[in-house]
Amino acid sequence: MAHRVTLIPGDGIGPELAEATRRVLDASGVAFEWETVDAGEGVIAQYGTPLPEHVLESIKRNRIALKGPITTPVGGGFRSVNVTLRQALGLYANLRPARSIKGLVTRYDDVDLVIVRENTEDLYAGIEHMVGRDAAESIKIITREASERIARFAFEYAVANGRHKVTAVHKANIMKLSDGLFLDSCRTVAAEYNGRIEFEDRIVDNMCMQLVQKPDLYDVLVLPNLYGDIVSDLCAGLVGGLGVAPGANIGPESAVFEPVHGSAPKYAGLDKANPTAMILSGALMLRHLGYPAEATRLEEAVRDVIAEGVSTTYDLGGPAGTAAFADAIVARLSR
Ligand code: NAD
Repeated sequence: MAHRVTLIPGDGIGPELAEATRRVLDASGVAFEWETVDAGEGVIAQYGTPLPEHVLESIKRNRIALKGPITTPVGGGFRSVNVTLRQALGLYANLRPARSIKGLVTRYDDVDLVIVRENTEDLYAGIEHMVGRDAAESIKIITREASERIARFAFEYAVANGRHKVTAVHKANIMKLSDGLFLDSCRTVAAEYNGRIEFEDRIVDNMCMQLVQKPDLYDVLVLPNLYGDIVSDLCAGLVGGLGVAPGANIGPESAVFEPVHGSAPKYAGLDKANPTAMILSGALMLRHLGYPAEATRLEEAVRDVIAEGVSTTYDLGGPAGTAAFADAIVARLSR
């Protein structure tokens, strides 16, 4: 049976990356039926919104989406499509693996981290106001329910993927109530996995320093929204940057898989952009759908092509365009 997936090509380099990713996934051995729908800057003139209702309906119906980057105009106008999607679909967990790829020049060659970021609350709840003319307040929301839910997601991910340790990251020494509650919630959930998955916690500033100096000490990290946003980019930097960083937003009903990078408008339509992050997001989707062997095979094909260094894109030092890079991966998968 073919899996029906909502494919949102997105803006800028998105359509080229989406096409490359679709071709690679079609060669993965898993059958897909793609329902392509457009969202983003390019549809505002037609629908009056970057996120038309039928796009949301398509994801709700298929429960799985693969999404290219979407341009978010700075300043007024429309809310970020990404934030709206996360809230409308209840995508509470942001999953971002960061694993070294042979052939990319980075400080370490053995990084293998998984960042699990709470996606719905914290300072990103969007509750802020001016206090008079010259002061502003943003409210940080942390609840036991959301904190235990994200901690459970991290532990379940660890169990399902053969990982051995979860580290909760916080600033409970200063924000004793909000981050204290997050830490307490993680400890409560950790007790359920006692003896199966190791648990520890780190203060976020110390965590950043340790990740830069000794990333091999860590495995799965679970963080509230803001620290998760920052630390996951730090980890992407450890393994070669945003061009190779995949991501997933997962909720109880549906999941949206997308590269971490943006729409890189200056490269749009030039067949130059690196499709690695979106293809690896496709591998996360395969795993989520219950195809771990196919996901690993796809990841290995991407890694082999990068290690070979012949058919890679400009940013990895190679001469190939987006489509040729995808061709090389498809060729490996077909061997
Ligand atoms: P960006 O990620 O688009 O670009 C940052 C730098 O990385 C640029 O030099 C770009 O050319 C390069 N780059 C990014 N992806 C690449 C790829 N796959 N291959 C090769 N080079 C790549 O970030 P930005 O310039 O800050 O944002 C551009 C637009 O994207 C903005 O409108 C922003 O809001 C949006 N954005 C969307 C998402 C998303 O949809 N998930 C995420 C981040 C930014």
